[in-house]
Amino acid sequence: MASVYSGVAVTKETVAELTGHLSGTGDAYELTAPQTGASVTAVPTDTATDVKAAVERAERAQRSWETVAADRRAAVIDRFGQAVLRDRERLIDLLQLETGKARQHARDELFSVPLTTTYYAARGPRFCASESRTPPIPLLTDAAVEYEPVGTVGVIAPWNYPMTLAMADIVPALVAGNGVVCKPDERTPLTVLALRELFVEAGLPPELFQVVVGPGKPTGTAVIDTVDYVAFTGGTETGRLVGARAGQNLIDVSLELGGNNPAIVLKDASPATVARGITQAAVANAGQLCLAPERVYVAAEQYDAVVAALRAEFAALSLGVGYGYESDMGPLIDTAHREQVAAAVDDAVTAGATLQVGGEARPDIAPGYYEPTLLTDVPLSAAAAAEETFGPVLSVWPVPDTATAIERANDTPYGLNASVWTDDEERGRAVASELDCGTVCINDGFFVGWGAIDAPMGGTGDSGVGRRNGPEGLTRYLESRTVATAKSGPLIFPDRVPTRALAAAVDVLTRLQRRLF
Ligand code: NDP
Repeated sequence: MASVYSGVAVTKETVAELTGHLSGTGDAYELTAPQTGASVTAVPTDTATDVKAAVERAERAQRSWETVAADRRAAVIDRFGQAVLRDRERLIDLLQLETGKARQHARDELFSVPLTTTYYAARGPRFCASESRTPPIPLLTDAAVEYEPVGTVGVIAPWNYPMTLAMADIVPALVAGNGVVCKPDERTPLTVLALRELFVEAGLPPELFQVVVGPGKPTGTAVIDTVDYVAFTGGTETGRLVGARAGQNLIDVSLELGGNNPAIVLKDASPATVARGITQAAVANAGQLCLAPERVYVAAEQYDAVVAALRAEFAALSLGVGYGYESDMGPLIDTAHREQVAAAVDDAVTAGATLQVGGEARPDIAPGYYEPTLLTDVPLSAAAAAEETFGPVLSVWPVPDTATAIERANDTPYGLNASVWTDDEERGRAVASELDCGTVCINDGFFVGWGAIDAPMGGTGDSGVGRRNGPEGLTRYLESRTVATAKSGPLIFPDRVPTRALAAAVDVLTRLQRRLF
């Protein structure tokens, strides 16, 4: 078996230095590289006691950090973003090593970090600033809202985008003055550890940002039991457990869960443009992307042309592994996930679906490799249609009209992302406003929505609660305190004033307030 480090600038020593930052006393486990299945290193895990100690360290550092002016906190984050760009090749190597994803997908992931840091460094301090609000009786009273950090934020991150998804939660938490304890997925601890080093180099107090590693139980649950807020990204069923546990602890939580994202192709869309855009989005990170399209509804008059164009795009994808840009798609994270994806495709075909392209596991390329797969005629009840596949699998159906496309698109418990493809932006926006989900992208699979970093992103229904990105992505980490002042002493209704007179006064007051609000 080839060395896991051949062809990559990351060395065994670099990895040992990263895992050397971990001080967990739990059992160690073996981290493997998805491109080869070879062992990378042994990683120690954190017990519940270790997590408690890590949270206490972050809490101590947070007490000083919250007293640092928000614009100085933002300057640290800005320097961190620049260091990520500077060290891009090493970080992309590391991302590929632990996720197996194709280099272009690792590169795209890395570029999302400076987008996030620049935005929150520039705008974050304003989101933290106190503001005045309309008081009950103008001139005689005033009201102000002050914001302070919630304390320590637990970030439970997944394996599919270990850099992007962790940073989208961690960066605003730090700008808002919080400490952070991050539990990356066991399969992908290295990039978060490397990013933590760059935060410290940029001036972040080392204890403020802790990384703990270990399985969901006990390490993840110990995080939920000790922090002040949980930002979770992962599967819907785990999200329910995390939400329930946070509820028991009476702490707030954001849950970014799965999606079964529809794409609607209107009759005026160009088949070639649609096929290229949807294919690139569907195979991004081998389809292990919560925002990726999985279901495509095409206007009947365009159906044959769109399916032919999609078939050509899927068949032209170059399959392979390596640390260059030759391959269009990498393997799935592991063989267990490959088996789930394969089972969804096999079930659909048994139920009557037509396999247009792909449909085979390719262990000859990498242990978890699964071919990009295009399906038509999928029964609506098949798992490939009704559930999130989280693999490079796309199903396409013809629809007689736009109303049917919208109805089918909304026929899911999920509500994360959707796309509408059309030559008429106005018509695209009209369709978008009928879709039950957190983000709709017009003429793009997902990136235009994710890249709109000033706009909130998140899901409805089984896709979760809460939003990341935009002001909402930071204000979730703030507690508010309203400070209201009675300028002329206590607001006490005078004795023995008839109710009718009081009602007249309230009427005048509410008329005035209507103008002020
Ligand atoms: P999980 O939801 O199980 O894992 C996500 C994170 O949660 C990991 O860090 C995991 O730790 C941790 N975790 C697991 N159980 C608990 C728990 N009880 N308490 C606290 N933390 C916990 O995702 P899977 O990897 O099992 O993927 C399952 C499915 O979820 C995928 O097939 C896909 O459909 C969806 N998914 C969606 C993602 C998204 O971006 N929205 C990302 C990943 C998955 P560890 O794994 O180390 O045990």
